[in-house]
Amino acid sequence: MITAEAVIDLQALRHNYQILQACSPNSKLIAVIKGDGYGHGAINIAHALPEAEMFAVSRIEEAVSLRSEGITKPILLLEGCFCAEDLVIAAEQGMQTVIHHPEQLAAIETTPLNKPIKVWIKVDTGMHRLGVHPAEVSDYVTRLQSCSHVYGEPCFMSHFSCADETDADTTLNQLQCFNALTQNYPGEKSIANSAGILYWPDSHLDRVRSGIALYGISPKGDEPCERELTPVMTLRSKLIAVRDHYCGEPIGYGETWSSSRDTRIGVVAMGYGDGYPRLAPEGTPVFVNGRIVPIVGRVSMDMLTVDLGPGAEDKAGDPVVLWGKELPIEQVSQHIGTIAYELMIKLTKRVYKRYLHPS
Ligand SMILES: *Cc1c(COP(=O)(O)O)cnc(C)c1O
Repeated sequence: MITAEAVIDLQALRHNYQILQACSPNSKLIAVIKGDGYGHGAINIAHALPEAEMFAVSRIEEAVSLRSEGITKPILLLEGCFCAEDLVIAAEQGMQTVIHHPEQLAAIETTPLNKPIKVWIKVDTGMHRLGVHPAEVSDYVTRLQSCSHVYGEPCFMSHFSCADETDADTTLNQLQCFNALTQNYPGEKSIANSAGILYWPDSHLDRVRSGIALYGISPKGDEPCERELTPVMTLRSKLIAVRDHYCGEPIGYGETWSSSRDTRIGVVAMGYGDGYPRLAPEGTPVFVNGRIVPIVGRVSMDMLTVDLGPGAEDKAGDPVVLWGKELPIEQVSQHIGTIAYELMIKLTKRVYKRYLHPS
């Protein structure tokens, strides 16, 4: 019997893609599938999106594995290449690279490449994590324009730090900075992530980069997703025991919870060995037989326990949903004090992935 499984609805994925494309009708959509497609399986996600023109990942290993599985579309390396060998592989395999610091610029100029490579200059417009300082952008452009290893015009990207906060000025300041720096150059421009696509239409420019919203999750993290985005992943498992539990009895490691009444406890085959956070507090919601029940006691490696309530009639073998359409992951992640991105990406190999609606 399969217990812990992530059911991935590829029809929901395509639906979300259409919605995001409709939100940014004049821009091309880059599907961000780093981190093994946010835990959904990058190769399956890529194959399920024939309409996507371009993918983006963070590390060259991710891009190479997509190529080896027959993904031939352009792949953008969001942080660029970290050494000359990687640059040679990227050029050979038709990837596009980002440069955000002087060593990467020098590597493009000096590394012999069999094929020219398309280059995106990442500009620091205020996130101050990666990016070329605004004052240095024109120098980068001039050098790249005269470099025979570069395919076409240099393109431009930047990244928002607070686009999920729709009442902050930061995003408009970043956008203004980006536009002022790049508007006189012909290369493509891209700054919007999922939050940019949904909340900041002026930020769409030539290409938008969607990660979290593609998987049907709100970038704001505190509310079920708006605009009809549908969660792609449902994390499911089963009850493996239902037990009588008497008033005053503790449960699990450390005896962190004791019942204040006679009740029924469900033991779910899901634990930190599957990637479900050990620090999920008492009260974290779990969906069982049509209702939400709270986690009680500590999450252990292979199991967690829920209070099903007095007289509950649930049975061993009954299905349980940890997050998905029945229980928004936004609610779960808020309870745990993290974001949906982290919950999904930390699922371990033990969780079986089942794909629905492959085409
Ligand atoms: C991860 C990432 C994205 C996608 O962000 P979401 O919030 O998941 O849409 C876009 N751009 C860059 C540079 C990223 O690293």
